[in-house]
Amino acid sequence: MRGNIRVFCWCRPLSKDETSSSKKSVVDFNGANDGEIMVTVTETTKKTFKFDRVFTPKDGQGVIYADVSPLVTSVLDGYNVCIFAYRQTGSGNTFTMEGTKRDRGVNYKSLEELFKIVNEREVTYKYDLSVSILEVYNEQIRDLLATPSSKNLEIKLDRDKSSHVPGITDAKVKDINEVWNILQTGSNARAVGSNNVNTHSSRSHCMIFIKVRAKNDLNGECTSSKLWLVDLAGSERLTKTDAQGEQLNEAKYINRSLSALRGVISALAMENSHIPYRNSKLTYLLQDSLGGNSKALMLVQISPSESDASETLMSLSFASCLRHIELGPAKKQVHSAQLQNTRQMKLSRKVRKLEKDLQNLKSKAKGDEQLCKDLQEKVKELEGRLDSKAHSQITSEKQQRLLSGKLKEKEQEHQPSIVEQKVTPIGFTIFDSAMWIVFCYCLFCQNKVLERKLKEQEHQRSA
Ligand code: ADP
Ligand code: MG
Repeated sequence: MRGNIRVFCWCRPLSKDETSSSKKSVVDFNGANDGEIMVTVTETTKKTFKFDRVFTPKDGQGVIYADVSPLVTSVLDGYNVCIFAYRQTGSGNTFTMEGTKRDRGVNYKSLEELFKIVNEREVTYKYDLSVSILEVYNEQIRDLLATPSSKNLEIKLDRDKSSHVPGITDAKVKDINEVWNILQTGSNARAVGSNNVNTHSSRSHCMIFIKVRAKNDLNGECTSSKLWLVDLAGSERLTKTDAQGEQLNEAKYINRSLSALRGVISALAMENSHIPYRNSKLTYLLQDSLGGNSKALMLVQISPSESDASETLMSLSFASCLRHIELGPAKKQVHSAQLQNTRQMKLSRKVRKLEKDLQNLKSKAKGDEQLCKDLQEKVKELEGRLDSKAHSQITSEKQQRLLSGKLKEKEQEHQPSIVEQKVTPIGFTIFDSAMWIVFCYCLFCQNKVLERKLKEQEHQRSA
């Protein structure tokens, strides 16, 4: 997919009138499967256009809707979606969007599918759908569901830049059975006050607005999104319709609003700071549904008839320009209060996580501090051990020195020198003297013992 504006082209069959008046088809569908369509401009010139999908006159409503469906259903996922039908009058806009009772178009099929999915998802989601139908004619907004239909309504912008029409009928739809009647009420109201129903309906933009409020019961997410189904006014050239008076006035309004639409889309594509939404009621209404945050589909209806060739070329050129526009990714329309809640929840979750991280870091720091202390003590202990080792080494070195000194002395003892030979007699003299003293002492002691024995004998004798 190129960009987020998809463009599909659908060519209607030649009508009975055209066939009976032998009008030829100027459109070639050989490249339709590759999204290509070729138009014969003159006998020698052909022009090829490329789209996201090309539908031939043989394709029916079901085939077209199968490709429109994914876009429609994304509104239930919270995206703003805009589907336009663009054509020259008589090419099949009403047929494509409204269809017939037996062959219903995009409007009905979209709502039918929305209700089908709403039922399928009822376990998880709560949806609230409402439908409004309005018409923009000569830059005046008319509520097509009001009785009597109210004219010239105003557009107001909410604080979140979403547009709304104060006072517009907001029909709450509970199931698909109510839908066809509501759509018919809108369609019938369009004809009121007009002499020629088909002429009037092709000179105004008919806009069906489906508002979807959703609540996801699992995660509490609330979204508020919109689906616009827009049947644009006919794009035929003024010369062709030979417009005069009121018709000329209508055509001017139509051209102005269609070029406003082109202007807005180009400004969005160029990411201009100013997007001229207010240049027309059509674009002002679609302010929050036409832009980078939404998804858009342009359905271009063309006539194959050679008599409509110039209008067909004009429609195809307009549509193929849109196809090159890239608006960036679409964004979910989460409810602002809900968004704030979600943001707050995310923030407090982040704060809690940060607090936990901080706590972890603190306890880790404490552990590190203890480890550091332990290590310091270990270092001290090792230093002490190193010191005592060094000390014992010094001591052992000293001892070693001492021992080696003694060893030397011993060696010297075993090899007596001249000095030693001289010293020896002196040694002997000392030893002899000591022995002599001991001997004397023994004699002295023996003498003492004998004296005492003598004294004892004398004492006994005298007694
Ligand atoms: P518009 O709304 O663009 O003026 P209509 O939707 O009224 O044109 O279509 C004009 C006629 O062509 C109608 O009779 C319609 O039934 C018929 N028609 C348009 N598109 C198709 C189509 N794809 N297949 C069969 N008939 C079509
Ligand atoms: Mg019509």
